[in-house]
Amino acid sequence: MTAVRDLAAKHAAKAIAAGLAGDGAPLFEPLDGGFVRCAPKEPYRAMIAALAARSGGRIVPQDAEGRVILVDLPVPRSTGAGDLAEALAGRRAAALADGGLVLADATAAAAFDAFSSACFACYVKFVVDALAARKRGGSLGAGERRALALALDPSRRPPERAPDLSRGPFADADSARAAVIAAGRATVALGLVGASFGNASYAVGGSLHISETGAPLDELEGRIVSVPLDGSGQAVQKASSELAAHLRIVREAGARAVLHGHPRHAVIASLAPGRFQSLPDALADHPVAIAPGHGAFAAGRVDFNEALQALLDVERRCFDEIAGTLI
Ligand SMILES: [Zn+2]
Repeated sequence: MTAVRDLAAKHAAKAIAAGLAGDGAPLFEPLDGGFVRCAPKEPYRAMIAALAARSGGRIVPQDAEGRVILVDLPVPRSTGAGDLAEALAGRRAAALADGGLVLADATAAAAFDAFSSACFACYVKFVVDALAARKRGGSLGAGERRALALALDPSRRPPERAPDLSRGPFADADSARAAVIAAGRATVALGLVGASFGNASYAVGGSLHISETGAPLDELEGRIVSVPLDGSGQAVQKASSELAAHLRIVREAGARAVLHGHPRHAVIASLAPGRFQSLPDALADHPVAIAPGHGAFAAGRVDFNEALQALLDVERRCFDEIAGTLI
């Protein structure tokens, strides 16, 4: 019950802010066996239901985040305690035929991560599958078309302009850390990550000030570590798992600010067959690189404005291309 109570506060608010939940259905409902059932909002519910129906017993994520966090999403035969315990052995979330999810995690933060990772993974897989079906000349069912129309509605198009962040270059560790915190919060607010995963760093004075491993990108206060630019020292242990990529971008691209997010339509574009393979060409004039199936790294020469705008531009271009193909 503690998990449900916690979820009902801060993490439920996060799920609602991210558009994952909150269209009137009860968000989180305790089940026997210590599991928590949750009701994702549309279009997630329709996508999860469609994937569960054709899954053969488990939904296998295609995005790197989903594969690491969830491994896969079992589809239990029923929501009885025995079936759930069997399906969720060694797993963090299960998918239900009605589009709901069941979470195994005991703490609110972990349950939120599993919930949003499951929604993210199902969104990515659903749209990648739809692009593949379209490429094969196949047709989509009415329910699938409705889910896509909702997901790719122009009202969901990423905005043209990122909000203004403070201007660099920053001269000391304190202002660098403040800039990292603000950039992380803006990245999450723009929906450029699944859950609160992602990382950010700023290099000044021979050090890289980078988010800690496991720290939610929108809650970096007190969770930034300073690592020498040669990657040495004890602090490396606490730094983001993407530290090596950040250091390389700083050293080789001459960047001060590095931002890593998981913009979902960019992830989809990197996984989809055919025309989307030309993605790097579309990005030639942007300081950003896509890690296929994973996410995007963006660099800024003086501060995070350039990097945030680049992430947003990539995501908007991919959204437009996908919507143009599927709608
Ligand atoms: Zn990542």
